[in-house]
Amino acid sequence: MHLDPATLGTVSILLSALMGGLLLFSWFQNRTITALGWWGAGFLIAALGVGILGFQKLLPDESHEAIAVGNALVAAGIGSKYCGCRAFNGRPSRITWGMAGALVWLAAWPLTVDKPHVRLALIGLTASIYLALSAWELARHAPQQLLSQRAVVAVYAIASLFCLARGILGPSMQTGFWAELFSRGWTTQWALLVLLYIPAIAILLLSMAKERLEYESRQSALTDPLTLLPNRRSFFQKAEALVSRYTSRPLSCLLFDLDRFKQINDVYGHQVGDQVLQGFAHILVTHLPGGVFGRLGGEEFAALIEGTQEEALALAEQIKNDLEHSAITLGDAHAQATVSVGCATAVGVPIAELLTRADQALYEAKARGRNRVVCAGPKP
Ligand code: GH3
Ligand code: MG
Ligand code: MG
Repeated sequence: MHLDPATLGTVSILLSALMGGLLLFSWFQNRTITALGWWGAGFLIAALGVGILGFQKLLPDESHEAIAVGNALVAAGIGSKYCGCRAFNGRPSRITWGMAGALVWLAAWPLTVDKPHVRLALIGLTASIYLALSAWELARHAPQQLLSQRAVVAVYAIASLFCLARGILGPSMQTGFWAELFSRGWTTQWALLVLLYIPAIAILLLSMAKERLEYESRQSALTDPLTLLPNRRSFFQKAEALVSRYTSRPLSCLLFDLDRFKQINDVYGHQVGDQVLQGFAHILVTHLPGGVFGRLGGEEFAALIEGTQEEALALAEQIKNDLEHSAITLGDAHAQATVSVGCATAVGVPIAELLTRADQALYEAKARGRNRVVCAGPKP
C-alpha cells in the first residue's frame, strides 16, 4: 500500500476544516459554551495554515511568505484552542494569548528564514507549549471532573511531548523512521499521525461540551433554584446512599421548619421571606459543609447527620441560635425569624421512617411554643 503524503495532507486539511465547521455549528446551537467557538475557529485557522503550507510546496520555488504565514496560522489555530480550554473552565480568554505564538513566530521570522531546522524547532516548541498549557488548564482548573475532560488532558499531554520531541530532536535526526516522523516536513508518517489526531481531539472536545451540558442539566434537576441547596429529590438520593452505608452506626435526622413563616411573608413581603429562606440556607451550609441536607419544600429543610443524638442535638441548637440572632433586613423592614427542629436518631432505619419520627418531634416543638429543638424518644 502506498500512502501519498500529499493526498494524506489534503485529507487532513479537509478534515480539520470539517471538524472546525462542526464545532462552530455546535456553538451556534448553544452559545453558552463559548469554548466551542474558540475550538471551531482553531480548527479552521489551522486548516487554512496547513493549506497554505501545502500550496507553497506546489510552487516551483520556495515561497518564504507562504511558509511564514502558514506556520503563523497553525500557531494561531493551536492558540485559539488553548483559549477555548480556558473559556470552557469559565476563565477569561484573551485573543492576544491565542495569537502570542503566531506573533513570536512572525517576530522571529527574519532570524529563521534561511534555517529550516530552527523553524522546525520554533514551531514544535510553540505547539508544545500551547498543548501543555491546554492540558494544564483542563487538569487543574476544571470546575468539575468530566470523563472526556481527562481523556482530552491525556491526548494534549502526549501531543505536547510529541511536539517537544519534534522540536528538539527533529533537527538532529537524519534517517530512519523517527527521522521521517520528527525531522522532515510533511512525510507519510507525520501526515498519518495528524490525520488520526484531528478527528480524535475534535470528537473528544465535542463530547466534553456534551458532558458539561448533561452535568448542568443534572445539577439543575437536583438543586433548589432559590436557596441553591440540594432539593428534595437530591436530599433523598444522598440520604438513602448514606443510610445504606451506615447499617451499624447511628444516624440522626434533623427536620427544620421556620416559625410563623406565613406571617413573615404577610408583614414584610414575599421578597423578605425569600431572603430569610436564603439566609437560613446559608446557615445550614456553614454548619454542615459537605453534609447531607436540603430544602424539602416551602420553609422546610432536612439534614442527615452521622452521629449520636447528643451530637445532633448540639448541632441543631447551634443552627437554631444562629437564625434567631441573625437579622435579615430589606430597606426599612427588619425581619426576625426563628426555627423549630425535630430530631430523631436510629441505627439501620430507612430514611422515610427516620423522617416520620423527626416530623413527630417537630410537631411537638411547635406545640411547645416554637423556636426550640425536640428529640424523638427511642423507638417504641
Ligand atoms: P408554623 O410556625 O406552624 O410552621 O407556621 P408557618 O406560617 O411557618 O406555616 P404555614 O405552613 O402556615 O406557612 C408556610 C408559608 O411558607 C406559606 C407559604 O406562603 C410560605 N412559603 C412557602 N414557600 C415559600 C417561598 O419559596 N418563598 C416565600 N417567601 N414563602 C414561601
Ligand atoms: Mg411548614
Ligand atoms: Mg413553618
